[in-house]
Amino acid sequence: MMFALVRTDPNAAKPQEGISFLLIDMNTPGVQVRPIRMLEGGTDLNECYLDNVRVPVENLVGELHKGWSYGKYLLGHERTGIAGIGSCMQQLQRARALAASEGLDGDPVLQSRLAQFEIELLALEFTALRLLSANQQSRVPAVEASMLKVRGTELRQAIYELLVEVAGPHAVPFEEAALRGEVDDPASPLELSALAANYLDARKLSIYGGVNEVQRNLISKAFLAA
Ligand SMILES: Cc1cc2nc3c(=O)[nH]c(=O)nc-3n(C[C@H](O)[C@H](O)[C@H](O)COP(=O)(O)OP(=O)(O)OC[C@H]3O[C@@H](n4cnc5c(N)ncnc54)[C@H](O)[C@@H]3O)c2cc1C
Repeated sequence: MMFALVRTDPNAAKPQEGISFLLIDMNTPGVQVRPIRMLEGGTDLNECYLDNVRVPVENLVGELHKGWSYGKYLLGHERTGIAGIGSCMQQLQRARALAASEGLDGDPVLQSRLAQFEIELLALEFTALRLLSANQQSRVPAVEASMLKVRGTELRQAIYELLVEVAGPHAVPFEEAALRGEVDDPASPLELSALAANYLDARKLSIYGGVNEVQRNLISKAFLAA
C-alpha cells in the first residue's frame, strides 16, 4: 500500500482544504513504479505514476476532505525522525574512532570540531527530550518538529562531511558490497569506502520531509510573528 493525499474537493476555499488521505494498493491497474538512480548509485527511491487508478471507497482514512490534518500530524513525526539524533550520535562516534585509527586523535583542530559537534548534538537531544516531556501524548507539534528537522539534518550532513575528510582517499571509490550494508567490520577498507556514498545520500536530508528553507519559514511564522 502507498498513502496519498488526493484532491477530493476542487472548490475548497483554501488549497489545504478539500484533500483526502487515501490508501492505494500498489498492485492496482494503472499504478506504475519507476526506479530513480540516486547520487550514490542506489535505487531505493522511485517515481510513481497513477493513470486512471480506481480506489475502493473503504480505502479512505478518516474523514473525507480532512487529509491535510492527518498529513500534518504524520509530517510532525516524520520530521522528528529525520532529525536523526541517534544516527548523528552514531556517526560522531564513528568519526572519533576513525580519527583515532588514522592517527589524528592528537590533532587539536579536529578535536575541537568533534567537541563542537558533541555540544550541539547534546543541545539538540535536550531540546527533543524537553519537547517530549512537555507533551506526554507522544505528539510533537509541527513547528517544534521543524526545528528538530532543520538542526538535526544540518548536523548529520556536517558530520558526514567530516567523516569523508577524515577518511580522505579511503572514502572513494565506494563499493557495491558496502552500499548493500554487507560489511560488518567498521574499520575495514570496504566500510570506509561507503563513506562517500553516505555523504552523497545525506544530501537528501535537508530536502525531503519538507525542505529546510520552508521549515525556517514555518518557524519564523510561529515565533517571530507572534
Ligand atoms: C530522497 C527523497 C525522497 C522523497 N520522498 C517523498 C515521499 O515519499 N513522498 C512525497 O510526497 N515526497 C517525497 N519527496 C519529495 C520532497 O518532499 C520534495 O522534494 C521537497 O518537499 C521539496 O519540494 P520540491 O522538490 O517541489 O522543491 P521546491 O518546493 O520546488 O523547492 C525548490 C527550491 O526552492 C526553495 N524554496 C521553495 N519554496 C520556498 C519558500 N517558500 N521559501 C524559501 N525557499 C523556498 C527550496 O528550498 C528549494 O531549494 C522526496 C524527495 C527526496 C529528495
